[in-house]
Amino acid sequence: MSALKNKTALVTGASRGIGRAAARALAAAGARIIVHYGQAAVEAESLVAEIRTDGGQADAVAADLAAPDGAHTLAARVRELVGRLDVVVANAGISKAATIEDTTVADFDRLFAVNVRAPFFLVQQLLPLLGDGASVIFVSSVLARAVAGNLPAYAATKGAIDTMVKHFAAALGGRGIRVNAVAPGVIETDMSHFAHTDEGRKYTLGMQAIQRIGQPDDVADAVTFLASDAARWVTGDTLRVDGGTKL
Ligand code: NAD
Repeated sequence: MSALKNKTALVTGASRGIGRAAARALAAAGARIIVHYGQAAVEAESLVAEIRTDGGQADAVAADLAAPDGAHTLAARVRELVGRLDVVVANAGISKAATIEDTTVADFDRLFAVNVRAPFFLVQQLLPLLGDGASVIFVSSVLARAVAGNLPAYAATKGAIDTMVKHFAAALGGRGIRVNAVAPGVIETDMSHFAHTDEGRKYTLGMQAIQRIGQPDDVADAVTFLASDAARWVTGDTLRVDGGTKL
């Protein structure tokens, strides 16, 4: 597959989970990958090595996206590496289950810092590198439109992402930049550890039309579609990638 030949893609939080799968899928489609990570240097470098072994191009860059200047730092490192960027996958995120009563100000602020502030300022800081045909992909969640579990503050961060998608798409469309999001349902990663228990699996399958637990590759393929020219007329949208959750 060469849908993304001669394109460069940044994937945040690419050391594991959905981000790692997205980086692999974009590399398989021919893109040069900038693998962003927070702490997991060893895992990020192993992904870079894997992509290079498969004949692709990749580099790893570190930045803490919980820091106020984290997105600025990451964008500066990306600018040192490349003069143009075609795809940005703002995937890095955190979650924390807590009722409304148990949510602390510190947890709320950290959730919004990583899940909302960082993607907002990352795209702002990368604008000089994004040109005609570029694709920005945010990662939302089924929880932005439906209630499940106990994650009101986390869900609110994903609601903010769905709103940003529309405003960024409207503002950047004139420059030929498309902006969309994928909204995964429960995906089997470190974040969704509850889905690894029998009770969690039963709860998850009870919400879904398709009766299996979603995998990172299921989301990665949707990301690759949105990144590619096959999605050239798709912008301002949040694509549900959830096996038909809470229909
Ligand atoms: P994960 O915990 O496996 O991966 C999250 C990634 O974000 C990791 O690579 C982590 O290092 C990175 N990250 C977190 N905090 C960071 C920070 N301060 N600085 C830099 N990097 C940081 O989880 P995942 O399931 O792969 O999640 C990826 C995205 O998908 C997230 O935005 C998440 O909200 C979203 N999502 C996940 C699910 C699910 O069920 N797993 C469902 C809907 C949406």
